[in-house]
Amino acid sequence: MNIINTPMKCCRCRNQHTAAERVDMPSKRWADATESTCPKCGARSFYDMTPQVAWCWASGLIEIGNELPSSDAIEIARGPQYAIKGEVGVHARHGYGENKGKLLVPGVPEAANQFAGLEALDRWLKQINKRKPRDGVTFSKEVK
Ligand SMILES: [Zn+2]
Repeated sequence: MNIINTPMKCCRCRNQHTAAERVDMPSKRWADATESTCPKCGARSFYDMTPQVAWCWASGLIEIGNELPSSDAIEIARGPQYAIKGEVGVHARHGYGENKGKLLVPGVPEAANQFAGLEALDRWLKQINKRKPRDGVTFSKEVK
């Protein structure tokens, strides 16, 4: 996606606009600099609303990007860039040791086989879907 088309949402007034629609104003903090501001209310902070998808592999490893990388990747969630990693991170297992910094679907890495792994993924998604989606992040209802 071209950077000027990046969808954004103002943190103050919630106005949705693109990067190109933002207004450059002289910075109050830095001399000879401008800062991009909300075209409606002039606030500087924004959420990056770029649509993202989260997927997992048969190993249970979760990744996030613009689109599914291959037909082996199983889609688990969709949502805006600013929120998806945090929301997936709330529910995922955080890796340790050689998996430090990685997000994993609970129960999948230690599953005896791929079928058991898919069942663990399905249970996890059902558990998450008992609550309302937050910040526009929606989890898959079932494993396809
Ligand atoms: Zn605004």
